[in-house]
Amino acid sequence: MRMSKLYLPTLKEDPAEADVISHQLMLRAGMMRKHASGIYSYLPLGYKVIKKIEKIARKHMDNSEAQEVLLPIMQDSQIWKDSKRWDKFGPLMIKFNDRKNREFCLGPTHEEVVTDLVRDEVRSYKDLPLNLYQIQTKVRDEIRPRFGVMRGREFIMKDAYSLDIDSAGLDKSYQAMYDAYEKIFAECGLEAVSVEADTGAMGGKDSHEFMVLADSGEDEIAFCNDCNYAANVERATSQKVGIDFEIESDFEKIQTPQIKTISELEDYLEVPAAKMIKAVAMVADGEAVLALVSGEDELNEIKLTNYLQANELRAAEAEEFEELFNSVPGFIGPINLTEVRIIADQRLKNMSGAIVGANEEDYHFKNVKVKRDFEVEAFADLRSVKSGERCPKCEKGKLDIKAGIEVGHIFKLGTKYSENMDANYLDENGKAQPIVMGSYGIGITRLVAAAIEQNNDQYGIKWPKAIAPYQIIILPLGNDDEVQTKSEAIYQDLKAKGWEVLIDDRKERAGVKFNDSELIGIPLRLTIGSRSLKNGVVEAMTRENNMKTEIELEQLETKIE
Ligand code: ATP
Ligand code: MG
Ligand code: MG
Ligand code: MG
Repeated sequence: MRMSKLYLPTLKEDPAEADVISHQLMLRAGMMRKHASGIYSYLPLGYKVIKKIEKIARKHMDNSEAQEVLLPIMQDSQIWKDSKRWDKFGPLMIKFNDRKNREFCLGPTHEEVVTDLVRDEVRSYKDLPLNLYQIQTKVRDEIRPRFGVMRGREFIMKDAYSLDIDSAGLDKSYQAMYDAYEKIFAECGLEAVSVEADTGAMGGKDSHEFMVLADSGEDEIAFCNDCNYAANVERATSQKVGIDFEIESDFEKIQTPQIKTISELEDYLEVPAAKMIKAVAMVADGEAVLALVSGEDELNEIKLTNYLQANELRAAEAEEFEELFNSVPGFIGPINLTEVRIIADQRLKNMSGAIVGANEEDYHFKNVKVKRDFEVEAFADLRSVKSGERCPKCEKGKLDIKAGIEVGHIFKLGTKYSENMDANYLDENGKAQPIVMGSYGIGITRLVAAAIEQNNDQYGIKWPKAIAPYQIIILPLGNDDEVQTKSEAIYQDLKAKGWEVLIDDRKERAGVKFNDSELIGIPLRLTIGSRSLKNGVVEAMTRENNMKTEIELEQLETKIE
């Protein structure tokens, strides 16, 4: 490609709107332009990088026998209501009505669409396993779109969905995706680490995130300095507390009643006071809160100190607990369902129902079924894990907390969607069984930004070869005819050999050309000037380390790799 023709609006200065290096460089290197908050147009250079990453992702998905499909962006609200996520996703989803007044949303993810797709098609165990994937634009109306494509409102995701007959099958599919993800990130030239993750709004059991370590990352990851433990801090915290609970789908969402006494509460919960939870809410990111239920007479007069003493807490911990409790606004607080964690005593195990606050003011959920076993630890553990703390796995090492960018996330969903949405298959005995599912995402456009965060210097981007928009840039310097002719010949030659080559044929000063070539980060630069030509050489610079060497013209083709 000739740079004189390329739509490449580079910028000399850092744009005011960009705080992180990848965002600055993507704008400066003319890769993209903002359309609206969190929404971008990708220009030729940016789109080329995206396509490279997509190609690598495709290769490894195809190799693991996943099959590519393309699913609708515009999704009927009914499937989201069936899966009981219409309210759960809340304002993160762009919702609208069509001309016939039917409700739709723009897909923030595609579990529902896939489940809907297969529920009518997959009949027997013989039709499974299946893994369907796509590469497509997702729409999420993020509260704080920022850092450019790192947290966009419209972004490209590679998402895959595995469908199996049982959990052993799911384990296999999950492992295949885990392996494929490691290959994808490695081939993109990214150093990504896998960490244990929370399942959040997706629900399900096991989950791993793939993280690119970078100061600009919005996630915190805990690493043990003694064993191989690595987990998202959200996850590490719930592991430390020893409790992790999942809300089953068949709860009722109801308006919060005014309950003042324990007997009113007994009636309401249909649980005798003796069996009630002695549970407190954990405030995760200031949002998550569980109803406090205790055996005291007046709910408004719960004696915190007694409660704490009963649990043999030290004074310091008691203070901390009190602080947490005080941040619970009243009996039932607001809750963000994706971030719920609770701490409770063993009696909770026997509870048939619990009250959990809803993500809407004055509403909460009743009869939430709590899965998993619980263990109680000190209330001090309500805090999220911090650097220097003991590792929850080996209990020997210390935790080190680092910032990371979540570039991929894999989930064992289990039968949550298939049960809610009636996606069954017939087993060998002709009995209907719910399909066991997994879901796997890579943020393609976020990965572009993450790659830049990991590969840059004060001059600009340093693309890893595999995802560079071009591999070679030729810089003819000056107006010398011989330089022009020779540069053109080299350009044609290298192109014919299959290289992706840029030639800076613009009528610009050498300084401008040098700066732009470094800014856009092409891995290999060949500078051709009249002096070097006289000596029969060109100057080659590898952007990775900015090392310059001279290559003899005759050897040019064989030396480039
Ligand atoms: P985050 O925690 O950063 O909000 P998420 O956990 O909500 O991400 P997932 O639902 O796991 O995201 O989606 C799969 C992948 O899609 C993520 O691992 C990430 O790489 C990418 N992704 C998610 N949200 C965005 C976004 N707003 N902009 C760009 N990429 C995103
Ligand atoms: Mg998110
Ligand atoms: Mg996340
Ligand atoms: Mg995620």
